[in-house]
Amino acid sequence: MAEIKEEEHQVFPMRGVPQPKREDVLNLPRVHISTHPVIHHKLTELRNKHTPPPAFYRLVKEIGALLAYEATATLRLEPQAIETPLEPMTGRRLAGGIGITPILRAGLGLAEGFREVISEAQVWHLGLRRDERTLQALEYYNRLPHQVDLQVAYAVDPMLATGGSAIDAINALKKHGIPRLSYVCILAAPYGLLKLSQTHPDIDIYIAALDESLNDLGYILPGLGDAGDRQFGTF
Ligand code: URA
Repeated sequence: MAEIKEEEHQVFPMRGVPQPKREDVLNLPRVHISTHPVIHHKLTELRNKHTPPPAFYRLVKEIGALLAYEATATLRLEPQAIETPLEPMTGRRLAGGIGITPILRAGLGLAEGFREVISEAQVWHLGLRRDERTLQALEYYNRLPHQVDLQVAYAVDPMLATGGSAIDAINALKKHGIPRLSYVCILAAPYGLLKLSQTHPDIDIYIAALDESLNDLGYILPGLGDAGDRQFGTF
């Protein structure tokens, strides 16, 4: 990075920054990369530049629901006595509440997909904006509650690029004493995935697909473009 001039670094923040290769991060602990064929089918439609915003948003929600199904597979259960129309029985219910933290604004579609799987989940919005020059995440909105009784919270954001906002979101959630935290995204770049996994080795990370690299501007390649703009039609 030494030979990159300051002005050039402000325009192209990732230029000259060394990045790990995809194969270097394929087997990180607690990182779950989906192999589900339906997720990959939908992902191809999502990446396609001809997919318009309404279809893009629908696909983000659908992939969110499928990722929620994968990410909730190991949740704790507790017994619950009920009566069926025929006789009493002991069923099982989720032990403790579930929180979803969409990182605004791109995380909104993913959070909607999660809510279709777990409708009783609490949704805590967290606004993190990335400074385009420095790629640092800046918090501008925080509706995390003061009192929580949850077994798990999921921070959701479609793109894990440089890892800055993901790390900040988990830092914010860690202040709330939630026993288990997970991060869920659609696409991850090796650079951001390694940073998040090294900074927060105690969380689970669920991703639909691991891409190749970041371009000079910090966009994921091959990627899908700007996940916020494509969901909300703000080009
Ligand atoms: N955020 C996006 O929306 N897209 C990228 O490629 C990287 C970050």
